[in-house]
Amino acid sequence: MVTKEAEAGSKTSGYVADVMAQIVARNPAEPEFHQAVGEVLESLGPVLERRPDYRSARILERIVEPERVVMFRVPWQDDQGEIHVNRGVRVEMNSAIGPYKGGLRFHASVNLGILKFLAFEQIFKNSLTTLPMGGGKGGSDFDSKGKSDAEVMRFCQSFMTELHRHIGANTDVPAGDIGVGGREIGFLFGQYKRLRNEFTGVLTGKGLNWGGSLIRPEATGYGAVYFAAEMLVTRRETLDGKVCLVSGSGNVAQYTVEKLLELGAKPVTLSDSNGYIYDEAGIDKEKLAFVKELKNVRRGRIKEYADKSKNVVYTATDSSVDHNPLWGHKAQCAFPCATQNEVNSKDAASLLRNGVTLVSEGANMPVTLEGVKQFLDANILYGPGKAANAGGVATSGLEMTQNSLRLNWTREEVDGRLQQIMKAIHKACYDTAVDFGAPGNYVKGANIAGFVKVADAMLDQGLV
Ligand code: NDP
Repeated sequence: MVTKEAEAGSKTSGYVADVMAQIVARNPAEPEFHQAVGEVLESLGPVLERRPDYRSARILERIVEPERVVMFRVPWQDDQGEIHVNRGVRVEMNSAIGPYKGGLRFHASVNLGILKFLAFEQIFKNSLTTLPMGGGKGGSDFDSKGKSDAEVMRFCQSFMTELHRHIGANTDVPAGDIGVGGREIGFLFGQYKRLRNEFTGVLTGKGLNWGGSLIRPEATGYGAVYFAAEMLVTRRETLDGKVCLVSGSGNVAQYTVEKLLELGAKPVTLSDSNGYIYDEAGIDKEKLAFVKELKNVRRGRIKEYADKSKNVVYTATDSSVDHNPLWGHKAQCAFPCATQNEVNSKDAASLLRNGVTLVSEGANMPVTLEGVKQFLDANILYGPGKAANAGGVATSGLEMTQNSLRLNWTREEVDGRLQQIMKAIHKACYDTAVDFGAPGNYVKGANIAGFVKVADAMLDQGLV
């Protein structure tokens, strides 16, 4: 006999499958967007059963549709006077709980589907931070590699010449992401101020002496490590002495390594799109300082790390192999901090085989759906990006607060708040997973906890 509960469950999964099929049909050629939505919808069955009003108000159908997408031409001239045309995009996904908030990504691989996946993730991440921020994301297919500062400035000025019409301190507040760091935020802010004749907190990640917050550069990496430490507490463990694999070598990777060192762990890898280094002796403070100078000042390649230090192995990226050898070293913890889908099912299997029992995502959606399933089946501590890397946007929220108050908090104050927020996010995910019958499943916990707050706000605000 089919029980009432089983019948309700199968009706809900049929409904979720129908919504997913519509999304795939209406958003063709956007695999990353399908992946991000699919992962969230898969978690929401139990909530939809408890709350039939979400279904009758069509919350799922509404939450996957951006409130607005702005797409625009970005023409600019290089140092030789040649003209180039890039595409700029801002996806304003959801403003139910606050102004749109989310980074700008400048990378050759950027397309609308990638920005929609990032904007969608951002809704739930921002909701988890406990701060009043909606979800958005934007960027361009501009590749800053090999460009002079003057070229990057001209590009940023052209980009902001259009974007300024659509953003504002109470409307939409962009920040950095891949390819957008302090230099780019400076050029973007300067042009916004010039066009609008106003000095406001319209961007976060600003320089310290013009409205930025202490700890914002560190926040995503530090936060991913704080989240990892919280997960370990549930198994009465700490990071002390643990060997850690870290990918990427940009903002998030650098500060992940810095916090790991502070907590006594031993990071042994870093990468960029050309290859990765394996330093069995461990990346120490001095070597990290070299990486910061290499990447943030000289804008060089990670291979130089191996050229400089003894007993370091550099492996160049080989696009003909179907896995990433970085994830094949013996370790207890992994922090993917480069980009989406950098850990596939083969990589997930080799991480598990090599003794990894904790994965904390500094990057957004770095693990494929099959890889996530393997981690959940193996019952390891797996912190999904929308929870584990939320420290960056949370500290952007703190930057917005300081801008509104027109004052600057100390490093200790901001770091203390960041730690409290990461603890609160961990607790919300952990408790929600228990409440919905999936203890230890941070994917379900994060998706459900992030969703409910936004869905309730959407119900309160009527059909908009
Ligand atoms: P950076 O541009 O500072 O660094 C990105 C790093 O990842 C670089 O080492 C880059 O190498 C590598 N990378 C980028 N794309 C690829 C690719 N397609 N294949 C291989 N390597 C690649 O960016 P961030 O550190 O800021 O961002 C890293 C991740 O963290 C992203 O997923 C981002 O969305 C996420 N994130 C960032 C936040 C922030 O506050 N900055 C907040 C939350 C999440 P190369 O230089 O060769 O391209």
